[in-house]
Amino acid sequence: MEAWNKLHPGGLVNRAGHRPGRPVAVLIFLAGLILAVSLSFLVNQAAAAESRRVEAGTGDVFELRYRQLQPGEPLLVIWTSSVSDYAGIFFGESSHWLKKGNPGPQFLVLGLDVMLKPGERVLEVELWSGGRLAEKLAVNLEVASRDFPRKKLTVDQKYVTPPREVLARIKRESELLALVYSSSSSDWLAEGPFVMPCEGNLYPNFGQQRIYNNVPRSVHTGVDIAVPAGHPIAATNSGRVVLASALYYSGKTVIIDHGLGLFSSYSHLSRLLVRRGEMVKTGQVVGLAGSTGLSTGPHLHWAVRVYEARIDPLSLLELGF
Ligand SMILES: [Zn+2]
Repeated sequence: MEAWNKLHPGGLVNRAGHRPGRPVAVLIFLAGLILAVSLSFLVNQAAAAESRRVEAGTGDVFELRYRQLQPGEPLLVIWTSSVSDYAGIFFGESSHWLKKGNPGPQFLVLGLDVMLKPGERVLEVELWSGGRLAEKLAVNLEVASRDFPRKKLTVDQKYVTPPREVLARIKRESELLALVYSSSSSDWLAEGPFVMPCEGNLYPNFGQQRIYNNVPRSVHTGVDIAVPAGHPIAATNSGRVVLASALYYSGKTVIIDHGLGLFSSYSHLSRLLVRRGEMVKTGQVVGLAGSTGLSTGPHLHWAVRVYEARIDPLSLLELGF
């Protein structure tokens, strides 16, 4: 715990208390309740997602919903009025097709990767009816720059310069992860709003540039939540478990596919309580917190991806799913 605090000093948002005696506990509970209510009010206010309406000449209407057009953020494209038979949505390397009257989702999630260069991006929409292209739209999106914090950390040297005997394992695991994130359910498996996977000290350290033992390394692509070892960790939403294994860097890890390319992961667990292929529900305990892999104390590393794009997990709580 000591070491973990040293590692992550900044940006404390929410502190889960210890257990004092009863009268004090009641007072703390009441104070906590007031704080929670006012915080949730603040969060809701700050959370108001931006929304942009795009109308086509065909009568089709799309809503673009996002917190901010910045690296590390998701972008929701919702077909609110579907007139055409099909809508093709093209953004960067990705292409998606939505079908009118499909019992499935009339929306898709796009991810602006944490390392995406700021600047203008174009979202292209093709509307097809009766086998003919009825209209083509180009929506300009200005991706703003974002300042991420930097952090110097001291960790076991074996994680900065991995020993030769684990190089094959690291390569194998990175290939496995690439495979896991390359395919997702075409059905939306999530149901209703996303929830926090646990309560605890939340460090909004998403995107932090990390310098391990004075060597600039990767970007921190999730948020850390300090919790005691053994603390239950819950699924942020329903989905299918697509990985439940021990990995070199992230330790015991669970990855859930929520469909349409959206994945959540839970790392450094001490115990895995689900298996690959299993369907889980929002709030279901998938494992117990720990400090396995590249970690200096018990905490949950919670991360979210839209296919290969790494986005801030907290954004999901604010998009109004
Ligand atoms: Zn982390």
